[in-house]
Amino acid sequence: MRVFNFSPGPAVLPVEVLEQARDEMLDWNGEGMSVMEVSHRGKAFMKVAGEAEADLRELMSIPANYKVLFMQGGASAQFAIVPMNLAAADSTTDYVNTGHWSLKGITEARHYTTVHVAGDAGGQYLRVPPQSELDLTDEAAYFHYTPNETISGVEFGYVPETAGVPLVADMSSSILSQPLDVSKFGLVYAGAQKNIGPSGLVVVIVRDDLIGRARAGTPLVFDYKAVADNDSMLNTPPTFAWYVSGLVFKWLKRNGGVAAMGERNRVKAQTLYAAIDASPFYRNWIAADSRSRMNVTFTLARPDLDALFLEQAAAAGLKNLKGHRVLGGMRASLYNAMPLAGVEALIAFMREFERKYA
Ligand SMILES: *Cc1c(COP(=O)(O)O)cnc(C)c1O
Repeated sequence: MRVFNFSPGPAVLPVEVLEQARDEMLDWNGEGMSVMEVSHRGKAFMKVAGEAEADLRELMSIPANYKVLFMQGGASAQFAIVPMNLAAADSTTDYVNTGHWSLKGITEARHYTTVHVAGDAGGQYLRVPPQSELDLTDEAAYFHYTPNETISGVEFGYVPETAGVPLVADMSSSILSQPLDVSKFGLVYAGAQKNIGPSGLVVVIVRDDLIGRARAGTPLVFDYKAVADNDSMLNTPPTFAWYVSGLVFKWLKRNGGVAAMGERNRVKAQTLYAAIDASPFYRNWIAADSRSRMNVTFTLARPDLDALFLEQAAAAGLKNLKGHRVLGGMRASLYNAMPLAGVEALIAFMREFERKYA
């Protein structure tokens, strides 16, 4: 039985995408074999790869002066690959610290560049610093931030203004969740396993002028120029993940694109936050203007009931609601592929649980 999967990542995929991948598993494209078993340099797979890029470009209205790269190593590898490519050894870079993932990015970047923390959520990361609190370095090589912090569930409601310094964003848990003006960014990267497709793939969207500046010693497979010049096929790419991501892009196009997703995601998150706010038993701790649309965190008034809540939710077909081990409590991830029906089922369960045990 298919359940509602609230996992933060790897996360829920659209049922139609899984069905198509299943149907094509033994005989893909009339080849008599699966897509995993064909050459990445063959005509058939090249078409899949090209279409995935074209569809992503269309979905996000990516301007012509940006390259789209399909890389490996996840978002975590980009924590190092970004400074290796964009920052000289004697450079300063601006980073905003809003939680777990920003901090990982900062820690890694410190091996390559002088990191200036240009903004800090402080304390337990219950809010995003407003533009007025950002302390920008004029000559920074770039400005890095995490638009959505997947673990605590805080999200920027604005795109920082950086006065010409290239804006770099880790959009692993928010890419494609609403319309985005890519032209405001120098570089955007996103691990696939939240809002794109299977893990093993990281999508990098990078402006042409930021390519070709990798520092000496950068491994070739991590050099944006080498990757771009070889259409992300410098070596064997994760072909199955690329193929499934392409199916997801087509699913997004059939379902109204990012504008429709943005509206759907807004309604899903608002509905769940409203239910939490209306109850004395559940609580979300994030500042109202910083609440994530993708990862909704909440605690129970009685933490001793956490285990029972999770057990009964799973039995009711609502899985992976456990909050991150550092924070405790609950987290419902509401990526594009989570239908409103999943949110409604969760709310009905929460009400019933509260009625029984509060
Ligand atoms: C999941 C996540 C990461 C880590 O992604 P990997 O692909 O596992 O390296 C980094 N940043 C954000 C915002 C994430 O949500």
